[in-house]
Amino acid sequence: MDLLDKKFLLAPGPVPVPPRALLAMAKPVIHHRLPEFSAVLQKIRADLKYLFQTQEDVLFFASSGTGAMEACVANLFSPGEKVIVIRGGKFGERWGELAETYSLNPIYIDVPWGEAVKVEEVENTLKTHPDAAGLLIQAHETSTGVKHPVEEIASLTRERETLLVVDAISALGVYPLPFDELGIDAMVAGSQKSLALPPGLSFVALSARAKEKAQKTTSPRYYFDFRKELKALNKETTAFTPAVSLLYGLSEVLSRIREVGLETLFAHYRRLSGACRAGVMALGLELFAKTPCEALTIVKVPQGVDGAKLMKLMREKYKVTMAGGQAKLKGKVVRIAHLGYQNELDVILALATLEMALTELGYKVKLGAGVSVAQEYFFG
Ligand SMILES: *Cc1c(COP(=O)(O)O)cnc(C)c1O
Repeated sequence: MDLLDKKFLLAPGPVPVPPRALLAMAKPVIHHRLPEFSAVLQKIRADLKYLFQTQEDVLFFASSGTGAMEACVANLFSPGEKVIVIRGGKFGERWGELAETYSLNPIYIDVPWGEAVKVEEVENTLKTHPDAAGLLIQAHETSTGVKHPVEEIASLTRERETLLVVDAISALGVYPLPFDELGIDAMVAGSQKSLALPPGLSFVALSARAKEKAQKTTSPRYYFDFRKELKALNKETTAFTPAVSLLYGLSEVLSRIREVGLETLFAHYRRLSGACRAGVMALGLELFAKTPCEALTIVKVPQGVDGAKLMKLMREKYKVTMAGGQAKLKGKVVRIAHLGYQNELDVILALATLEMALTELGYKVKLGAGVSVAQEYFFG
C-alpha cells in the first residue's frame, strides 16, 4: 500500500533540492530592475566566479542546460566554421546536432559509448585541422557515465586558436575543472544537476578570447546573445527578465558551496561514487563506463533481467527514481546519480533498492552484499 508516498530521487537530473534553497525560492518575487535585486545579482556573480574558478564573467539564462549549449554554438562560431565534436554519447551527439543546426562544419571524433576520448586522437585531429575554430566536449558524458580528459585536452587547445567549449552540466562542482587555470574558453552548467536546484537555469563561463570571438561571429541569435548579456552585466542587470525565484535559490546554494569549500565538495562526490562503484561490483554487477566519473554510477542490467521492469519496480514499489539508459542504452543500464543534495545514505539506499529489486525479479544477489561493502568503504 502506498501509505507514506515517500519518494527518492536518484536520477542524474533533476536532483533533490535542499530545504534552504526551497525556502529561499518561496520568497516574494521582487522587480528585477530594482537596486535590491541588483545586489542579489552582484552576489551571485561573485559566487559563480568562485564556483567556476575564474575571474571572468559567468552568464546565465532562463533555460535548461541545452540552452547554454546552443548559446555557445550560436555565439562563438559562424556558419561554415570547422568545429571538432567529441561524440561518445547522447550529449556529444547533441553538440553535433547543434553544430549542424547552425550550419557549422563539424569534424566528428566518434568514441565507443562507455569509453573516454583518447588524448592522442584529439591531438592528431587538431593537427589535421589546424583551422578548427572550436572543440566541443562533455566533461562528464552523463549518458555513459564517462569522464573525458578535459584537462589534457585543454593543454592542447590553449596553445592553439581552437576554442575549447566544455559541457560541464553534470560536472561543475563535482570534480576540479578550474576554468582559468586550464584555459577553457566556454564552460556550460545547468541548475538541476550538481547545483541541487530545480531545472530552469543555465550558465556559461567565457574566457577573454571567447568574449572577443562572440563580438565577431555572424550566426543568428536573439535571446541567447552573449553580447547583450555582457553589456547588461556592466549595468549590474540582465538583458531580459531573469528567473528571479530560481536565482534566490541559487544564491543560497552558492553561499553553501562557499561555506563548505570546493575541495570538500569534490572529496564528497569522490567518496559517494567510490562507495557506489565498490558496492555495485560486490554484487557481481558490471559498471558501464571504463573511466567512470564522480557524478553518477552506471550499472549494466545483468543478463536475464528486463531493464524496463527493473526500473518500473524500483520506481513504483520502492518509490526510488533512478534513470534508465538513453538511446541505444535503453533497458540496458541503470544510472544512479551522486548529485545535488545527497550523502552517504543515498548510496546505501540506491544499493539496497537495487539488491531488493533484482532479488524480486529472480536474479540472485546476496542481500546486503553491496550495502556492506559501501558501508566499509565509508569507514575506510
Ligand atoms: C543533463 C545534461 C544535458 C542536458 O541538459 P538539459 O538541462 O536537460 O537541457 C547536457 N549535457 C550533459 C552532460 C547533461 O548531463
